[in-house]
Amino acid sequence: MKQGYTENNNKMQISEAQARRKRIDRYKAWIVRLFLAATIIPSIVSVFLICQVNRLEQEVLAISGAEGNDLTTLVSSGEALMSNPNVDMEALTGEEWNTLIEPDGLEPSAFPVGAESEKKRVYLTFDDGPSIYTGQILDILAANDVKATFFVIAREDESYWPYYTRIIEEGHTLGMHSYTHDYNEVYASLESFETDVNRLSEFLYERTGEYPTVYRFPGGSSNSVTNVSIEECIGYLNEEGITYYDWNALNGDAVTEELSTDKLIDNIMTSVRQNDTSVVLMHDIQSRHNTVESLQGLIDVLKEEGYEILPIDENTPLVQHVPYNTGFQEATD
Ligand SMILES: [Zn+2]
Repeated sequence: MKQGYTENNNKMQISEAQARRKRIDRYKAWIVRLFLAATIIPSIVSVFLICQVNRLEQEVLAISGAEGNDLTTLVSSGEALMSNPNVDMEALTGEEWNTLIEPDGLEPSAFPVGAESEKKRVYLTFDDGPSIYTGQILDILAANDVKATFFVIAREDESYWPYYTRIIEEGHTLGMHSYTHDYNEVYASLESFETDVNRLSEFLYERTGEYPTVYRFPGGSSNSVTNVSIEECIGYLNEEGITYYDWNALNGDAVTEELSTDKLIDNIMTSVRQNDTSVVLMHDIQSRHNTVESLQGLIDVLKEEGYEILPIDENTPLVQHVPYNTGFQEATD
């Protein structure tokens, strides 16, 4: 009898121990599930939120970029420039140019949020080439892995033709700057302006197999040499899908006297330091060897001060002295 009781008691103890073990196993299983839930769910949520943040950042960039374009147009159009219609823009010294820029128009608060945290952008542009210096300019740019923009004219001398293709092949932007650069011819009438644009466009297509999509007016869009309405010329470019760019910084190399390399760099940097986006005017012409001489120094200073140097493309904010106004046709009718 006693033995039977003990046996029973033992069995009960065993089943209780089994039940306890089962409970413990269940708790363990729950702890593992809770642990997994506590780590995996937040991870999934984090990944989802990171994706959302990225997407929204892209949207903000797209929106602020668009506003940035408008602002840059406004800033660079500078009422100061417009109120000086008789100034020959292309022949200004860098200093004259810098006094024309109103610092008031460049208050950081005028720029969209986010723009300040981005790298400031600089677009180096060379007008009037190709010249005997184009090869040297391209070599310096290649050695520094810097891309620029060349607003060229048509050189009928075939020895210059390889430069047109080299500019494109080496990743630079080939822009137009009129066939002849002869103000009297280019701006004689709207018709002659249109003819000149088409002639250069075809000439460059024959040389390179590509039609250029950017243009710089000889003398700039704010020039005082044109006999035609610059707004009509702008309207024509717009119809042709061609975007024009002026500049908001220059080295002053178009003046009669050749400036020292230090002066050329100083002139540019004075403007560049005031702008979020700078389009820098320089000349690729035979009489301006110091522009080539100053190029390495300029690139060094720009890199040291943390600027991003880019070729003009479809994302470049518009820098125009006379902004294109879609309403001008009604206004002039
Ligand atoms: Zn020019």
